[in-house]
Amino acid sequence: MARSHQTIRMSSCACRQVQCRAVGAPILSVVCYCDDCQTGGQEIERLPNAAPVLDADGGTAYLSYRDDRFSCVSGADLLVGYKIKDSAPTQRFVASCCNSGMFLKFGRGHWVSMYRARFEGDLPPIEMRTQTKYRLANTEIPCDAPGYQTYPMKLIGKLLASRLAMLVAR
Ligand SMILES: [Zn+2]
Repeated sequence: MARSHQTIRMSSCACRQVQCRAVGAPILSVVCYCDDCQTGGQEIERLPNAAPVLDADGGTAYLSYRDDRFSCVSGADLLVGYKIKDSAPTQRFVASCCNSGMFLKFGRGHWVSMYRARFEGDLPPIEMRTQTKYRLANTEIPCDAPGYQTYPMKLIGKLLASRLAMLVAR
């Protein structure tokens, strides 16, 4: 099954030594407001000369890709994983050359959530906003995509469907 027109997207750290590659459509294009994403983002932003990770309202925008559609094609040795605490299931990988947050990996999940801010060019629209109960702003939530107080079934469904597709090598 040749797939000849797969979109390839590159994310780069600010100084461009670290380059990650994502193939095809993401599982999900999401903005997450959960407290862990905010704490983790703040930790990255406190590193010297770090590029911003969080939006002004506390959201973090991600493109989530299957593990088998993600690769770090340059500067992988510069990546450093951060956890908000030792027992946390999630690691946030930062390009240590310039302290750019690149992606996060949730435990043994089969996906990688890449920081949208590190991509250039045409990106898929935001599909949903999750954990909006932690949102910082009192203003109306942007109505570009549905917002959910927690993690909606739609998100879990997409993750499960992508896992199945991965298992049957689609
Ligand atoms: Zn860099």
